[in-house]
This record gives sequence, structure tokens and C-alpha cells, in this order.
Amino acid sequence: NRLRPPAQRKTPSPLPSPSPRSTSPKRELVLSENSTKDTETLGSDEGDRLDDEKLIRSLKGVDPVAARQILTEIVVNGDEVHWDDIAGLEEAKKSLKETVVYPFLRPDLFSGLREPARGMLLFGPPGTGKTMLARAVATESQSTFFSISASSLTSKYLGESEKLVRALFQLAKRLAPSIIFVDEIDSLLGTRNNEGENEASRRIKNEFLVQWSDLTKAAAGRDQGEDLQRVLVLAATNLPWSIDEAARRRFVRRQYIPLPEESTRRVHLERLLSHQKHTLSESEMHELLQLTEGFSGSDITALAKDAAMGPLRELGDKLLMTSKSEIRPLQLKDFVNSLKYIRPSVSKGNLSHFEEWAKVYGSSG
Ligand code: ADP
Repeated sequence: NRLRPPAQRKTPSPLPSPSPRSTSPKRELVLSENSTKDTETLGSDEGDRLDDEKLIRSLKGVDPVAARQILTEIVVNGDEVHWDDIAGLEEAKKSLKETVVYPFLRPDLFSGLREPARGMLLFGPPGTGKTMLARAVATESQSTFFSISASSLTSKYLGESEKLVRALFQLAKRLAPSIIFVDEIDSLLGTRNNEGENEASRRIKNEFLVQWSDLTKAAAGRDQGEDLQRVLVLAATNLPWSIDEAARRRFVRRQYIPLPEESTRRVHLERLLSHQKHTLSESEMHELLQLTEGFSGSDITALAKDAAMGPLRELGDKLLMTSKSEIRPLQLKDFVNSLKYIRPSVSKGNLSHFEEWAKVYGSSG
């Protein structure tokens, strides 16, 4: 059930596919706190397992248990994310294409002065689509996608984390082109004087920084015949100001992912309503757009889901006897009701904090 057997992983990437929806990530490796609970661990067949064992044995200086752990916690995710699935964020998409997707698909064009970045940071309020963007980048660049929640590295895997970090980078190099997506990067690369920083997390952080630098050095030397150029650390954070200054500098691009503007909220809402019976007129939609000012993408999703319950809620127990066609369409009043409970998760004060940071440290354009 593997997306691609190891023998095929190293074939050079094809040119950009004519149909954007026909691309897919080679495979996705997910390491998160609940990855053993809610992800489908592959019951990989014997052939895949043998290939993995061969791969693991060929990695020098890598703990086989750690490498196996990374390889076996694989998710085959049916729900690929594509650019079109993400409402708005045109500037971020453009920047990700230039920084990751084009260099990954056309390494011949991106050398010398055009050498691709090894690190990119997506920062902004929670629920604005950072994770979705990372997943879309993996799909569109046909990369092996390693997804780690930094907090799980420093909690669940603490103790084995250094070995895991080493195995992670070695595997990423071997299975390149690869994207190492690190969510909540602030918990891994937080400022040194963090009161919570203990010896163990300091060591993981160092190991991560060392491995990351090696990537850059090896790519510059380009002597190992591996696809080293095409390994990128893509990180996301809601707390960009807590990242270590030295670590921050390594993210050559720092892309602000802001709250959605009115036009983006419209696309998002229209998409959510497209499979739903509703009576919202243009002027009511306009009103709703004003009411959702300051909402993040995930706030809007939560609001629409709650509002969609409105017509069912008012039926009470009668719901059980009512046929689907008799359920009334969704109305503006359902949204207005839900707005009493579903409030924006980002405060104005917090927002200006992001904007200030973006002004000082963000990459423009
Ligand atoms: P982040 O990583 O920034 O916290 P996510 O990418 O995990 O946010 O988004 C959380 C959820 O919010 C998504 O699963 C999706 O339902 C919704 N969402 C957020 N931003 C967008 C967007 N721009 N377009 C479509 N859905 C979005």
C-alpha cells in the first residue's frame, strides 16, 4: 500500500505536470503526538518492509530503531491538499512556489545564484492555513513529506529525540526531494533563556540545528550523489517572536500568513456553502462577510459547521421523523445565532503583534 516503493523514490522528478491535480506527494511521514492513535499505520507488505530494512541498513550512523520508527509511522492520506483547496493566500502560494515547488521540480534551473533556500518559516495566527499550505506544497512538488509536531519531539519522544532527529534528516536526504514540516517550531527552537528549557531539550535543539546545517554544507559540496539540494525544512509557528535569533536567521524566507481578507472569506464561505441548501442573498452574504471580520480560516469553518446545525437544532426530537427534503435551507439567521458562540480566536492585540513582527522580520512578496 506504499505510495511508491523505494526503488522508484530516487527517479528524477518529472517536469511540472500539465494537470495540477494529477500530482501527489510521494509519501507522507507523520510523526505527531497522536500519530499512533489516529493515523493509519501501513500494514506494509513484505516487499516494502524488506526495502525499508535495506534502506535503514544503508544509512550510516543512524539508529535503526529510530529510522524504523520514522518509516513505519507512515500515513497514506487519501485527502491530498492542492492549491485550489486553500482559499486566498495568493502571496504565500506564490512565495512557496518560487521557494520550493519550482526548485524541486526543476533543479536544473535553480542552481548557483538561484540555489533554493533550505528553510522557510510560515508564521501567523492559528487556523490560517499554514498546515494546509505545507501539505499542498508536498503534493505539488511531488516530495516525500515528513510531518513532525515539534512539541511531540520534546515531549513524547524525549530521550530518543536526538536519534530521531538524526534519522529524520538522513531519511529525508535519502528520499529526496523531501520536505520536513515542523509544526510549532517555537517549541523546538525557542529562545535559549526559556525557563522550560532543560538539558534534554537543549540537546534536541542542537541536534536539529547541526543536522540542518549539514544539509546546507553537503549541498554546497554536492559530493554524495544524493539529492541533497532538495531537502527543505518548512516550519510553522503561531509564536514567531519566541524563536531563537540564530535559528530565525536560518529561515531565509519568513512568510506571514495573515487572517483572511474579505475576498478570501468570501471564497472560503462560498466553498463551504456550495454543498448546502441555503437562502443567502448577495446582500446577506455581504453582511456575513462584515460579521466575520477578524475570523481565521478555521474560525470560519467552525462557524459554518455550527450554523449548518441550526435547521436541525430547531427540530429537536422531530428531527428523527423528518425527511431530508423537509429540512429548511440554511439562513443568515443561523450564522447570526452561531456568532454568539463562535468568536474569533485571535484578539486585535495579538494581531498587531504579528503585524509588527512581520514588518520587522517577514519576507515581503
Ligand atoms: P494553521 O496550521 O495555520 O493553524 P490549518 O492549516 O491547520 O491552520 O487550518 C485549520 C483548518 O482551517 C483547516 O483544516 C481548514 O478547514 C481551515 N482553513 C484555514 N485556512 C484556510 C484557507 N485559507 N482555506 C481553506 N480552509 C482553511
